[in-house]
Amino acid sequence: MSALRFSSSATAPAVHHTIRSIRKALAAASLAHQQSSVLSNLTASPPHSRSREAAGLAGTCLVPPPPSVGFVPTMGALHIGHLSLVRAARQRNDIVVSSVFVNPSQFAAGEDYGTYPRQLEEDVRMLSSEGVDFVFAPNNDEMYPSSAAENQDNVPRTFVELEGFDETSEGKSRPGHFRGVATVVTKLLNIIRPTDAYFGQKDAAQSCLLRSVVRDLDIDVTMHICPTLREDDGLAMSSRNAYLNGEERQSAPVLYRALRSAEELYRSRVYAVGDAGGRIASSELLSTILNILNSDSLVHNIQYVSIDDKNTMWPLSDVGTDGAVISLACEVGSVRLIDNIIL
Ligand code: AMP
Repeated sequence: MSALRFSSSATAPAVHHTIRSIRKALAAASLAHQQSSVLSNLTASPPHSRSREAAGLAGTCLVPPPPSVGFVPTMGALHIGHLSLVRAARQRNDIVVSSVFVNPSQFAAGEDYGTYPRQLEEDVRMLSSEGVDFVFAPNNDEMYPSSAAENQDNVPRTFVELEGFDETSEGKSRPGHFRGVATVVTKLLNIIRPTDAYFGQKDAAQSCLLRSVVRDLDIDVTMHICPTLREDDGLAMSSRNAYLNGEERQSAPVLYRALRSAEELYRSRVYAVGDAGGRIASSELLSTILNILNSDSLVHNIQYVSIDDKNTMWPLSDVGTDGAVISLACEVGSVRLIDNIIL
């Protein structure tokens, strides 16, 4: 299928379902952008100049740099958190592309792949209102043709994997998840070839993983990790919040309250001790968080509360002024939620 427009509005982004079609559209947009730069540079140049300097300048203006392309990968069911990434891209980049793809290879058996909310038309409307130029919404066969051809249940055959990452806290809770994430994001970066890519701090381990993948595989893209957007009561925005019933929704902000209490304890302890700063044992921060989580009757199955190095997600026994990331995963009612805070 080629490009499809959901609305007749001139500003609605074109939605592409195939790799061929999104690449063609991006190449055309890039060329058009360069041509319009040439035209505006030419009209801005002095009409007549005999000086060599001006002639040289005009020559450079004829070959403007290619436009910057900002890319925001998502699984759809968009909310303001996703849109904050799009806004960051819109501010910085000439062309903005977002993808909507619920990636089967990052869901383990028994997880919510089948029921994950899917609402492409609504997503495209939201992306349109943020000025996204192109939406890439492939299906599984387009992304994983080798698996489809061999009827292997959509399991891709070549994987990108950060060694040892399944031993981090979130990795242990979701074995195989990060291999799926690293693989699909590498594929998307290869397809779109953006200059800039935007991810949310909301998924702390994912951001850390992808920074490593980009560094280790020499992918030519600038990574931007944007802050977590929260509801007024502190709950981190997430597509999975839609699974919460009324009572669970009321309890859910307890995750952030617990993280904030640990942050306050950290600040009071580490920054109260002279210029050099002190250190606090991770166990103290952990018990503060666990006490608060355990005080809520709807919170159960606390899968981890982890205090880790920000760059590696490996656990720290204590924390000083160089900081850490505290992340946690638990169920509120029947819904698995994650959250984190940077110290
Ligand atoms: P997802 O659709 O859940 O895969 O998320 C797509 C991107 O949006 C990821 O980089 C997420 O980290 C980011 N994201 C999700 N929720 C938020 C949020 N509340 N604030 C900022 N970014 C977010």
